[in-house]
Amino acid sequence: MRKVGLYWFGNDLRLHDNANLTKAALEVDDLLCIYCLDPHWLMPNRYGLATLSANRWRFLKESLIDLDKRLQKLGQHLLVCYEAPIKTIYDLASSHKVSHIYRSRQTGYYENQQGLALQKHLPFVQFVETDTHSLFNLDQLPFPLAKLPATFTKFKNAVEQLSLVKPQPPVDFLPSSPALKTDWLSRFPDYSNSEHEIVFYGGETAGLEQLRNYLASSSASHYKELRNELDGWGNSSKFSPWLANGNLSVRQICFDINQYEQQAGANESTYWLFYELLWREYFQWYAHHHGKHLFAFQGIRQQKPLTSFYPERFQKWCNGNTPYPLVNACMKQLNATGFMSNRGRQIVASCLVNELAVDWRHGAAFFEQQLLDYEVASNWGNWQYLAGVGADPRGKRHFDIEKQTRQYDPDGLFISKWQGNIQNLPLDSVDASDWPVLDQ
Ligand code: FAD
Repeated sequence: MRKVGLYWFGNDLRLHDNANLTKAALEVDDLLCIYCLDPHWLMPNRYGLATLSANRWRFLKESLIDLDKRLQKLGQHLLVCYEAPIKTIYDLASSHKVSHIYRSRQTGYYENQQGLALQKHLPFVQFVETDTHSLFNLDQLPFPLAKLPATFTKFKNAVEQLSLVKPQPPVDFLPSSPALKTDWLSRFPDYSNSEHEIVFYGGETAGLEQLRNYLASSSASHYKELRNELDGWGNSSKFSPWLANGNLSVRQICFDINQYEQQAGANESTYWLFYELLWREYFQWYAHHHGKHLFAFQGIRQQKPLTSFYPERFQKWCNGNTPYPLVNACMKQLNATGFMSNRGRQIVASCLVNELAVDWRHGAAFFEQQLLDYEVASNWGNWQYLAGVGADPRGKRHFDIEKQTRQYDPDGLFISKWQGNIQNLPLDSVDASDWPVLDQ
């Protein structure tokens, strides 16, 4: 009997260094390649926000189209389904007598729950899960996941000398596909945000090009000096949107950084790029380990923060309409482009939690909606860290916005570019007794 496999794509939208896909190619006779567009992503979530902004949707769509083109070169194609994932996969697996389901190991708690539910409903199907989103494989970690170090520094010290897994060459052969097609592009609404120049194009092709271009310049040798800048293409690698969608493999990036070091020389900056990728790695395992606590108000701590939900303040923060020009500029940049520098993210997150006293989870949910590089582990993990409910032994981080403005935007160019200076309105339009607050 022919073995039929189903490859369930998620945050691994690529053919290079995809050990799971390579495995599928070797093990089955026919293969269905599936991506599930979950209709819930366009509906308000528990924070009243749809998961996919126009920018995120554009990037994802480009990634799917690019993957489909690459699959077609191997005689395959991507079947994109617009339905709840569990139902889609269950129906396809049942109707095609699927024997193996392949999926990359998921970082997110809810994505893992979906996998477990399917396993329960499809007891005779073999589920194959491989680490494709992390630098290390689970079984390489020098500690059981239950004993994940409580701080990044301890984690880094434990893993940074481990040998890196060599990235696999791109898949160059795939089993044939049952003839199934969907007209997914017309079914999923196409809303675009074309006002601003697009600098990030989704897909493996564009991701690999960014990796090549970045390492062909000398930027990596100056990364540590430049990484905190608020703007500027070459000041940081900009790998994150492609990494988040799995258009780029983190193992490929580290391998290529090593090659770069051999040719151009290693220095503190090239090490620091690796160091930041270890932060990403820490959050991957942190999310696995802490499961749904990643989304809890008190995070992984026992005490709840002293913040609440103030809809007006939150709205002003989202729109870049606060009394803080630097915060406004960063938020406007995010809304327009889907990207914000790491320094900007720290400043706006600190502002939401400290100056505006808003529950950090609303900020994390807004980032989830807007960031092209939204990634469950890095986003919620960083937010917890800043809100003082995560992996930071020092408690919450409070950035002095004026000092940050003097340091990172001394001439006000960034604020002016993104029109962060707005009329000086009070933060709340009414006081605690609902009495209108007058302009000062
Ligand atoms: P570079 O500075 O060039 O760094 C190289 C790579 O290292 C990045 O692409 C990223 O994969 C990793 N990295 C760097 N800094 C961090 C960090 N602090 N945590 C985890 N990984 C890191 N990053 C995401 O990829 N997705 C998110 O959803 C996300 N949300 C964030 C939310 C907040 C509140 C904060 C403070 C940070 C968040 N980050 C997130 C981390 C970081 O801001 C971005 O990874 C980085 O700005 C992306 O730009 P880059 O690729 O040029 O990074």
